[in-house]
Amino acid sequence: MKTRSEYLASLQAMKHNVWMNGQRILRPWEDPQIKPGINIVSLTYEWPQSTEHQDLLTATSHLTGERINRFTHIHRSRQDLQNKVEMTRLYCRETGCIQRCMGIDALNALSVITHQTDAMFGTSYFGRLTDYVKFFQANDLVGNAAMTDVKGDRSLRPHEQSDPDLYLHVTEKRADGIVVRGAKAHNTAAPYAHELLVLPTRDMRPEDADYAVAFAVPADAEGLTLVCRGAAPSSKHEMAFPFSSRYATVESLTIFDNVFVPWERVFLCGEWQMAGYLAEAFATYHRHSYCGCKPAVTDLLMGAAALVSRYNGIEKSHHVRQKLAELMTTAELVHTCGLAASLKGQEQGSGTYLPDLVYANVGKYYAGTNLHHEMELVQDLAGGLVVILPLEGDLTSETLGPVLSKYLAGPADLAVEDRIRCFRLVEDLTASKFAGLLMVAGVHGGGSPEAERLAIFRSYDLESRVTAARRAAGFEP
Ligand SMILES: Cc1cc2nc3c(=O)[nH]c(=O)nc-3n(C[C@H](O)[C@H](O)[C@H](O)COP(=O)(O)OP(=O)(O)OC[C@H]3O[C@@H](n4cnc5c(N)ncnc54)[C@H](O)[C@@H]3O)c2cc1C
Repeated sequence: MKTRSEYLASLQAMKHNVWMNGQRILRPWEDPQIKPGINIVSLTYEWPQSTEHQDLLTATSHLTGERINRFTHIHRSRQDLQNKVEMTRLYCRETGCIQRCMGIDALNALSVITHQTDAMFGTSYFGRLTDYVKFFQANDLVGNAAMTDVKGDRSLRPHEQSDPDLYLHVTEKRADGIVVRGAKAHNTAAPYAHELLVLPTRDMRPEDADYAVAFAVPADAEGLTLVCRGAAPSSKHEMAFPFSSRYATVESLTIFDNVFVPWERVFLCGEWQMAGYLAEAFATYHRHSYCGCKPAVTDLLMGAAALVSRYNGIEKSHHVRQKLAELMTTAELVHTCGLAASLKGQEQGSGTYLPDLVYANVGKYYAGTNLHHEMELVQDLAGGLVVILPLEGDLTSETLGPVLSKYLAGPADLAVEDRIRCFRLVEDLTASKFAGLLMVAGVHGGGSPEAERLAIFRSYDLESRVTAARRAAGFEP
């Protein structure tokens, strides 16, 4: 397994293909917008080195027998699925979003679907993928899942778009590999990932065969441009934004300008019948990951809610307890969906375990559609100071500082400075640029709520419920 400094050194060796606000950003990254993202991923190299939580954060590779980072592991049991959820909650309670889940969710989905594709079409994708997973594990790599196409007109299929590049597609098949063109959107962690794992975003028809493609490329491959945007404050603001100046994600719009991919890195190419299954398998793994990260975000909000109530002197009030209990309920319901999806996970033909689709989707859906309300509860307990707290310069001014301290006091036994810190945290978690990203990520990350509703509806055994209702109504059998 790599150490934190080996991870940082590996990034320095990569080519400079990252852009932000019209500027090409040179590696190594010192940009305050990108650094908080690297701080997060660095923890996934740091924590597994200590003995604490070793069983959760590392695994034994079924391919080599070596000890590996769990973020490179293919799930071989229900316990593995559960461990991923628990690991995700542990990391995200510190960071909000651990980012590295996507790569492993993509590899697990590919390990299920490449096996099925080979069985149906006589292809040899699974063997290729297995070699690639060994390489991924041995080098302890960070992978971004580049699934979401830019999609143009949402009512049209890929081949119907006015510009054929609005979904990523194969433009040339050569003896040594394929050439692809298009763009993938919202790619979390891409500027400090080693690899992009590219998957189709939806089901396909025969006319869309060139769009039914999955592969892996180095994140600095020739022809790739990453146009990035970070959720952290644009300059150093540890005081004003205590959380997001330390930990925040970076997303990229990733442009593939005739990128060459050798055959050994191609895992689906033209088998349009499998594109939807692959998209669905990835979504299931990723929504299962959300059942770990979203309860952790609620943990942070809940902690901030309890703290701010203390600093307002209201912690013993009935309505405060009610709101905290509501936050507890949301956190544990979503986490329970993750556990249930693990417990009901099924072994697939490749030997990989896939979580239960319904529970994974219910968990993500419930988390995503409740997050705005959770933030509302915290803001309710905090009061208007969340967005009206005087600015740093006023608080540290020799003239104004002492007066402001007098008027910003809460309960007499609590330090004013800590009260101010607490409000800054609440602002950062619920009313900052970072909070805005958290909200949209809750709704759309891993798929829109409608995509989740559809997935639940399609897989749910509704007929058994209709039968139960018929029986209850006294219908003839
Ligand atoms: C913070 C963040 C991080 C992300 N990270 C990644 C990542 O690393 N990798 C990745 O691949 N993706 C990532 N995503 C993308 C995420 O999966 C998508 O945002 C999500 O799938 C929704 O797609 P969209 O943004 O194109 O919105 P759209 O799909 O355009 O959704 C907008 C609305 O249109 C509706 N809609 C869409 N299509 C139709 C249709 N045909 N008919 C009727 N209604 C329709 C949707 O239900 C929704 O209500 C990330 C997103 C966010 C917000």
